[in-house]
Amino acid sequence: MDYRDIVSSCYCGDGSIKLKKAESLAEEYGTGILQHADIIAQLRIVKDAVMSLDAHMTAMEMGKTCSQCAAKPDGGCCSAYMGNENNDALQLLMNILAGVTVKQVCNNDVECCFLGERGCILLFKPIFCLNYLCPHIQKESTTQALQDLEQKTATLLGAQSDLEQQLIRFLQK
Ligand code: SF4
Ligand code: SF4
Repeated sequence: MDYRDIVSSCYCGDGSIKLKKAESLAEEYGTGILQHADIIAQLRIVKDAVMSLDAHMTAMEMGKTCSQCAAKPDGGCCSAYMGNENNDALQLLMNILAGVTVKQVCNNDVECCFLGERGCILLFKPIFCLNYLCPHIQKESTTQALQDLEQKTATLLGAQSDLEQQLIRFLQK
């Protein structure tokens, strides 16, 4: 694929268009991508970074804070805007490659289409979804916990971005 084709087809359109693109990329290139040793290694690094961040968020009891926030009429941060605008086909492709069954699980036009009953179904989330330093979390957390949260998030974003670049290079061949 030409670089311009990748950019114009993977980063544009609503959530369902990007998901269709991710599915077609997985079908056409998935087997080849999963035979690429560097990409497999990077997938492992990103998964480890996700698990490290998740463990820290659990220790901070963020689930409790987010549940209380999301239960309010105007609470929560998983809006439909996020699902449509902030996902891209390559990031959805990463999830498919990692074994996640990516599908639209919410169609109420208010919340993100990837918000399931138990939270986000994606293992690898869009960059904007990894900004957890909202006022509620800041109020409930220690400075050290917030610093660790930011550091672990930055590690994950860096690893995810490296994986995205590897996928783009692979698709350009
Ligand atoms: S991250 Fe912040 S805004 Fe989003 S659900 Fe949790 S507490 Fe609410
Ligand atoms: S965290 Fe998941 S469910 Fe929430 S907006 Fe982001 S992609 Fe959607």
